[in-house]
Amino acid sequence: MTSTPAASPTTAGPPGGLRPSRYDPDRAGLDVLVAEVGEATGTALPSYRVDQLWQGLYRDLVGPEDVSTLPKALRGPLADLLPPALTEDTRSVGDDGDTVKWLWRLADGSLIETVLMHYEERSTVCVSSQVGCAMGCGFCATGQMGFDRHLSTGEIVEQVVRAQVEAGDRRVSNVVFMGMGEPLANYDRTWAAVQRLHGDLGLSARHITISTVGVVPGIRRLATEGLPINLAVSLHAADDDLRDELVPINRRYPLDELADACREHVTTTGRRLSFEWALIHDVNDRPEDAVRLADYARPLGAHVNLIPLNPTPGWPTRGSSPARVRQFAEDVNARGGNATIRRTRGTEIDAACGQLRTDRTNADILNTDGSVPVPAPGRQGSSR
Ligand code: SAH
Ligand code: SF4
Repeated sequence: MTSTPAASPTTAGPPGGLRPSRYDPDRAGLDVLVAEVGEATGTALPSYRVDQLWQGLYRDLVGPEDVSTLPKALRGPLADLLPPALTEDTRSVGDDGDTVKWLWRLADGSLIETVLMHYEERSTVCVSSQVGCAMGCGFCATGQMGFDRHLSTGEIVEQVVRAQVEAGDRRVSNVVFMGMGEPLANYDRTWAAVQRLHGDLGLSARHITISTVGVVPGIRRLATEGLPINLAVSLHAADDDLRDELVPINRRYPLDELADACREHVTTTGRRLSFEWALIHDVNDRPEDAVRLADYARPLGAHVNLIPLNPTPGWPTRGSSPARVRQFAEDVNARGGNATIRRTRGTEIDAACGQLRTDRTNADILNTDGSVPVPAPGRQGSSR
């Protein structure tokens, strides 16, 4: 495998045609870049210049232009070779400053989002892994957009760096891949980002969580990596008929196969598994759903996170009422499951999966040609 920052033949490099940004090259890639700049300026640069650049990027969280230990003549060329990946399009603050949500514009004009959430005991950043998503879950704002492209490793890592810069003295301790996109459909770049977060930014593997809709080969691969991160699986239904409908990837990787892959992850990594369950009124919040969920999760020792579905423009069914959510949690726990109701954050700033960008995109469409976005098929009127 080549270590140069130029487009790599593996899927770990930036996706087609995208120039590397400042967090794309790994340490070996930075070596090559610094050597190239040295050659271009006719000076052989000592290896500590790479250390200084690395410290600027990963310890001081500044771009090459602001690495004060580097000679001025080097900063300009390095900054040109290593541009930032993210330009702030919109930044919204909610929960008395405890939730910050960004809509970032990427070099090719794509828009993605990142959310920073401060809690008493930790600060968590929720990152995107793709522009849009191909998985087609109808209730999800990102799924409703369809798939544009994968994010590069640098585009993922920089979301965490920018959140840490914003957080200042409060250390960003946790990273969850629960923003836009399916991280295991962009496996190599996502994994390279995880390694960078762990090895270069110093995050503990125990504080990194990949959330997947259930891409079984990706889960099996994660289990072999030797860096034990947490796995969250977006379950939403524990019978194949309903899950086929809510989460179309289930038709390819049904619940039995998913459970086997989850078991393998738990056994080899020793990390606790969690299931995400967005409660949809009269769809997956009935007593029989709680029983099925408890029976599925219990043998895997999985923790279940319950959250009422966030309304999205393309999905007509509403989330469960708070009373229904509480009842459902009780039903799961009475059957030996381990469910908690997730604290929802950022609702006043639309910090739900894909929502800020959807609002923006819809506004753009309406402004330019007056057309109305077409809603994805929903489950309204379903008897389930
Ligand atoms: N693609 C990955 C990670 C991104 S989605 C996955 O699906 O796990 C992050 C989480 O948001 C998932 O658990 C997803 O099911 C959930 N989600 C998506 N749309 C939602 C909505 N409208 N309301 C509540 N949760 C939603
Ligand atoms: Fe993609 Fe996850 Fe949304 Fe499904 S829930 S469409 S996998 S981002």
